[in-house]
Order: sequence, then C-alpha cells, then structure tokens
Amino acid sequence: MAIQAVSGSTATALVIIVSLLVLIIGYLRATIVPKAAEKATASVLASTPTEPSKLTKTLASALPESVIAQQNSTEFKRSINSYWAQQECEIVPACVVRPRNAEELSKAVKILKEEFDVEVYRKGDKKTEGLFAVRGGGHSPLPGAASIDDGVVIDLSLFREVTPSEDGTSVVIGGGCKWADVSKVLDGRGLAVVGGRNSAVGVGGLTLGGGLSFFSPRFGMVCSNIISYEIVLASGTITTASSTNNPDLWRALKGGSNNFGIVTSFTARSFSCSKIWSGFLYLPSFQTNKVLSTFHESVNRVNSDTYDNFAAGPIACFSYVHAIGLKIISVNLCYTQAPENEKKWPIYWQTSGFSNLWRIWSTLKVQKLTSATDEMNMLNPPGRRQVFAMTTIKNDPATLAAAHAAYDAAISSLRRVKVKGLVWTLVMQPLLPDWVHKGDANPLGLNDVDEALVIVSFTVNWDEAQNDDFVKSTTRQTVEKIEVFAVANKTAHRYRYVNYCAEWQKPFDGYGQANVEFLKRVSRNYDPEGLFQDGCVGGFKLGLENIEA
Ligand SMILES: Cc1cc2nc3c(=O)[nH]c(=O)nc-3n(C[C@H](O)[C@H](O)[C@H](O)COP(=O)(O)OP(=O)(O)OC[C@H]3O[C@@H](n4cnc5c(N)ncnc54)[C@H](O)[C@@H]3O)c2cc1C
Repeated sequence: MAIQAVSGSTATALVIIVSLLVLIIGYLRATIVPKAAEKATASVLASTPTEPSKLTKTLASALPESVIAQQNSTEFKRSINSYWAQQECEIVPACVVRPRNAEELSKAVKILKEEFDVEVYRKGDKKTEGLFAVRGGGHSPLPGAASIDDGVVIDLSLFREVTPSEDGTSVVIGGGCKWADVSKVLDGRGLAVVGGRNSAVGVGGLTLGGGLSFFSPRFGMVCSNIISYEIVLASGTITTASSTNNPDLWRALKGGSNNFGIVTSFTARSFSCSKIWSGFLYLPSFQTNKVLSTFHESVNRVNSDTYDNFAAGPIACFSYVHAIGLKIISVNLCYTQAPENEKKWPIYWQTSGFSNLWRIWSTLKVQKLTSATDEMNMLNPPGRRQVFAMTTIKNDPATLAAAHAAYDAAISSLRRVKVKGLVWTLVMQPLLPDWVHKGDANPLGLNDVDEALVIVSFTVNWDEAQNDDFVKSTTRQTVEKIEVFAVANKTAHRYRYVNYCAEWQKPFDGYGQANVEFLKRVSRNYDPEGLFQDGCVGGFKLGLENIEA
C-alpha cells in the first residue's frame, strides 16, 4: 500500500490516523461479525420449533431433497444466517426451499400458486399476507426483501452456474450467483461482464434492479447488458425472455425487480478484460471541501474532450465511526484497463484533482476484478444492522455541499443518542448520460437524461435493535432535507435507484408514468392473478390496483 511522503510533523498525525484505521477495520471485522452471527443463531434456537404447516408438508413431500423444514437443523440456521443485514437474519421462515434446478423450482412455484389461489378465493377480494420470498445473494438491506416470517423462502443458492460461451461473447450466470462466482471464472479467461463492484453481492437482486458497474461508462447499466433471462413464471412455466422471445418481459426485467417471476439464469454479454486499476484513497475529514470540489470537477469531465469512458467513479464516501468519534473520507477510483506503466496512475486520473489531494493512504493498484471487488467487500462486512436510502441530484456544487452539510448535521444527534457501533456513511457517485443510454432499452426512465447526475446515498450500520427506529428516522430526515434543498435549487432528479432505496421510498414513481404502466401491463400478462405482487413479499411492488384497463 502506497503511503504518500509526508513531512515530519504530519508523520505523527499519520501514525495516529493509520492506527485508527486499523482499529476501525479490526472493530468491524473481528468483533462485530461473529457477535451478530451468534445472535441470529441464538434467536432461532430460543424459538420453539413449530409444527410444520400444511404448505410446508406439501412442499416437503413434493421436493424431499430440497425443503429444509427443521428449524434447529444446521442447514436451516446456515440459510437464515447467511444474509448480509442482521435484521434479515432475524426473520425466521417456516421453511427454506433450495431447488437444485429450474424444474424443481417450477414445482415449488406451482404449489405456492395453488395455495395462493385458495387463499385469495377464501378471502374474496382481499390480498393475502404473502406466502413466500425469493432470496438471491441475500444482500438487500431491506428487512423482508428476501425472507419472510413464518413463510416460505425460495433460496436460489444452488443456482451457481457460470458458463462462458466458446467465442467469449456471452456468459450464462445462475440466478443465485454472487459476483465473485462470476469474476473468478472470467478472470481466468481474460473476460468480464458488466457486473457488481462488490464480490459478495448477488447477481439476481443487483441485475433485476438496474445495476451500477465499473463497466457502466463503457457499456451501460448491468441490466442493459443481459441478452436473455431464463425465468419461472407464476404459472410454474419455465420460459426465456430475450429480444426475440417475450421481448416485453425482457425489457421489464431490466429494472422491474422481483415483480415478474424467479430468474434462474442470466445470459450476459462478455468482453475482454485482463486487469483493472482500482482501489481507495483514504483522506482526513479536513479535506472535505477539496474532495467535494474535486468530485464535482471530475464528474463534469463528461462534458470535456478529456473524458474517457474507461474511467469509472469517483465514488466518494464520507463516514463517521461513532466508536472512535472519527470522521474519515474514502474515494474509490477505477480505470477498467491496466495503464501502460502499471506503477503509475492512468493518465485520466493522474490529470484529475484526486492525484494531488493530501491523503493518508492509497490502495490503488492494478489487479484482477475479483481482487478489486473483494476489496469493496472487506469494507462492508455482514452481520450488522443496516439501512440504505438515496436520492438523485444534478452535479451541482451547492447541492453537493448541502448533501454533505445534512450528513454532518445529523452526526450531532446521532452522537447524543450514542448509537452503539454506528458507522454513518454518505456516498456520492456519478450517473452520467453517457452510461444510461448505452446497451438495451430499459424501463428505468433515464432516456431523457442529458446532464451529469449524482446518486447520493446513505449506507448506515449499527449494533443494537433498540436503535433501529432512531437510525432509520435520522436517515430519512437527512435524505428528505437534501431533497428539499435540491427541489428549491432546481437540482433534484426524479430517479431513485431501487437497490439503494429505503422502505419508505417509491422507486417506481421515478421511472415515469409510461414506464410504470408498461411494467404493470407486463405483470398482468405474465402473472394475471398477481402471485408476484401479493404472494411474493419483499422489495418494491408495482401497486397494481392503479392499473389502467
Ligand atoms: C455491500 C453492498 C455493495 C453493493 N454494491 C453495489 C454495486 O456495486 N452496484 C449496484 O448496482 N448495487 C450494489 N449494491 C446494491 C445491490 O444491488 C442490492 O442490495 C441487491 O438487492 C442485492 O441483490 P442480492 O441478490 O444479493 O440480494 P437479495 O436480498 O437476495 O435480493 C434482493 C431482491 O431481489 C430479488 N431477487 C434476487 N435474486 C432474484 C432472482 N434470481 N429472481 C427474482 N428475484 C430475485 C429478491 O427477491 C429481493 O427482493 C450493493 C449492496 C451492498 C449491500
């Protein structure tokens, strides 16, 4: 790791800050993770196993090898403890169905659909409470996105195929893969896909929500690079959605989340990629103003002839670590090919303001994609209570400053309440017109974007359930404060990235009316009774009662 040369007086500060960094990482990795995992296990052990329901028994007899109904079994505990967010680990389903192939999944969906029909019939017009949830990589921070209390979890963890085509232009990726599964296979062949930036995140949830990638500047959103989907529909039918087969469903899946069925595999476009240049700069918080202005200038380069779409980011993260009362800045930079001289920064980033910023530490280097995405993962360990929330603004210096001021102002109240283990992080990342117009058409509502946008998100984690409401409401108030400023300043944008939204947000509203109507029509065509609206819980639903006839 390169540490910048510093003068004698700053060397002491450097030693202190590096020690603090080591403390933070040690704190996150050694202490919190095991504690949280034990907590979830204990909560399950404490609950008295209930008599399996009729539905569980039906599933178990149809799929004896794939249903885990014994709540005290190791397999059951492993499944429910394998979510990223601690709140999700605390939800205890009645059973976990882990199909081994699309046919088994189809069988399970048919049983769930029969049960759903009976429930709906029994209740007349009333909706069901929800029967099941679908789990991909288990990385959604939304409680109940991929699990269900006392219901059925469809766990896709056995859908882990990664098969590149012979000519290297496409890859079949199982619906339960994590991005590490994909990059490990592709790294060895000098290939990559437009995929996630964190190795442990699931392909399913990320891709169905849109997907921001290191490769988005070159090829567009992750969803816009999916050639075809194999999907199990509400009827249990296994079908394919591509530009020629069910093209409406193909487009709807590019941002429509889990509203249409369960995707068993994605066929993604692939391209040559041997190594990338990526990593983080760590800076002290007194550099805030410089980081904000450098971020703004860097995002604005899309309008200059020095713009180079091999450059991705910057992703600027401002964190407050309550345990040690420290604010720290980290900035991710990326260039999706190795520079000629691997020891030097790529010209694009050398000529950006980031190269001159005084920093504590830099991890920037040429590396394989798996290693770069593992670095992201190390900074986001599982087993903590989590909340995300986001908004979208124009790349305007005053709005960026207002977003940071709102983040900063919240720290005082978070400090007062002493939220144990709190890490409060504001993230800013670009969303450029150049990216959102590339690749296949999608319903995200970004076609009319003609200027640089910035996704402003909060990723917040802490230790204790007693602080859930306070942290969530502080996060909400902070995002709303930024939105009020942006609206008044005419720098707000309607897009809300579904995968960064909190429960109270309405990401589909941001897609625009025509796109929402399109998604509702597709849902009605492929799932007329609304199994994936009312029977499948989790994530954001389309709200079909408003559908136009
Ligand atoms: C640490 C971290 C890093 C992240 N980095 C990025 C990033 O670089 N770029 C980015 O765009 N986003 C990123 N995200 C956001 C990420 O896209 C979402 O959290 C996403 O929901 C994770 O998908 P998953 O499959 O792991 O989650 P899950 O919790 O398993 O699923 C999320 C939702 O998708 C549905 N779903 C999952 N798989 C399927 C399937 N095969 N068929 C039907 N429905 C399915 C589930 O039902 C659920 O509602 C990150 C999140 C975290 C926590």
